[in-house]
Amino acid sequence: MSGIVMPEKFYAGYLFDLDGTIYLGDHLLPGVARLIGELRRRSVPVRFLTNNPTRTPREYSDKLNRLGIPTSVSEVVNSVGALIRWITRHHPGATVFPIAERPVVAALESAGIPMSEDPAQIDVVVASYDRSFDYRKLQIAFDAIWYHRRAILVGTNPDRYCPLPGGRGEPDCAAVIAAIEACTGTTCAAVVGKPDPEMVSEALAGVDLDPRSCVMVGDRLSTDVALSVNAGMASALVLTGDSVLTDVRQVVADERPTYVLDRIDRLVPSPVWRELGWSESSEKDDEKLGVGSI
Ligand SMILES: [Mg+2]
Repeated sequence: MSGIVMPEKFYAGYLFDLDGTIYLGDHLLPGVARLIGELRRRSVPVRFLTNNPTRTPREYSDKLNRLGIPTSVSEVVNSVGALIRWITRHHPGATVFPIAERPVVAALESAGIPMSEDPAQIDVVVASYDRSFDYRKLQIAFDAIWYHRRAILVGTNPDRYCPLPGGRGEPDCAAVIAAIEACTGTTCAAVVGKPDPEMVSEALAGVDLDPRSCVMVGDRLSTDVALSVNAGMASALVLTGDSVLTDVRQVVADERPTYVLDRIDRLVPSPVWRELGWSESSEKDDEKLGVGSI
C-alpha cells in the first residue's frame, strides 16, 4: 500500500491509544500481542492513553490483561483523570453537573468535587461520552449556562465517535458538546484529554523519559497525531480505526504523522522482524489459536 512509512529504529518509550489502535471492541488488532510482548521483553516503557471516559483505568488494565496484554493500572491514563486535574486546578470549589457515565461521576465523588442537578447552583457543566444523554440533561445544562448565565462548559474529549468492530462506531463526546453549544451559543472553555499535551505529562510522570525520545501511536489524526505534534513527539498512525490514507494527504505537512502503518507490529523495524522470524501470516496463526480475543 503506498503511503506506508515504517520506522527504522526503536524509540525509548511508546504511548498507545486503545480503541482502533490496540483493539476494536473485544478483539485485539493484528500484531498487537507480539508487538507489546517484544517491547516488554526489551524493557521499553509502554503507556496506554485513551480519551474514552466510559471506564476507569483499572477497568482498562483488567480488559488488557484479559486480552493477553499484561498491564498495570499505572500504565493507563484516560480523560477522566485529566478532567479532575483541570477542575481542581482551574475551578477549585466549583459545583459540577456531569453529563457523563459512572466512571466520571465516581471520580468526581472521590475527588470531593461537589455535584448538583440544580441549574442555579452549577458552575461547570461537564460534557462527556454519555450513552444515557437525554433531553432532561440537556435542559439542565441549558438552564445553567444560558438561563442562569453562570456555568461554563468543559468537555472530556473531542472525539466524534468511538470505532467499533465491523466498521461501525458509537457517537462520542463531540455529539454531546455540539448539542449543548448549539442551544446555548457557548463554546467549551476547555476540552481535556488528547490532543492536550497534559496527557503526555501525566503518562510519563515518574518515568525519566523526554517525550521527544518517545512515539505516540494511534488511529486518529485529530487526537493522537495532534497530541504528538503538541508534545513535540514522533507519531505513528495505524490504519486500523478512524483515519485513512486520504485523510493524511489532506492535512498540512507539519501535522502529518511521522509514520503510517497498516498494522501496528510494523513499529518493530524490518531487520528485527527477520531476526524474530516474524511474518504477517505467522501472526494469523496466533489468532487461530484464540490469542487476542475474549
Ligand atoms: Mg482511537
